[in-house]
Amino acid sequence: MDCLFCKIIAGEIPSTKVYEDEFVYSFKDIAPIAPVHDLIIPKKHICCANEIDESNSSVVAKVFEAAAKIAKAEGIESYRIINNCGDDAGQTVKHLHFHMLAGVKMGWGPESLGKSE
Ligand code: 5GP
Ligand code: ZN
Repeated sequence: MDCLFCKIIAGEIPSTKVYEDEFVYSFKDIAPIAPVHDLIIPKKHICCANEIDESNSSVVAKVFEAAAKIAKAEGIESYRIINNCGDDAGQTVKHLHFHMLAGVKMGWGPESLGKSE
């Protein structure tokens, strides 16, 4: 399957690993938008949140278990986890992933959504 993140998991494309276990891989985003910007992804290919169902939803729990461990390892206790699902939300890589952002005071509200032009 021609999937960038599957290739990263397989080690075919290099990445800066943050965390790995049987279910989850985490690595530094190549274009960070915050001092800490890690991506957490299930090892099993799932295109997006729309494809989560009762057969695979346990990986989402694994992602959040990993997030708590990564936060401890990164020395952060406040962070934001974002999943973009679909084109309007800005999903550019069609392998389910969660952005873990920290290290800066973040705003919240309509302006934080940015422009979609
Ligand atoms: P999305 O926009 O799909 O929610 O997030 C995709 C993320 O993957 C972006 O933040 C982008 O910077 C990151 N990304 C894209 N290609 C690579 C890559 O080859 N390596 C790493 N580490 N991150 C990537
Ligand atoms: Zn994939």
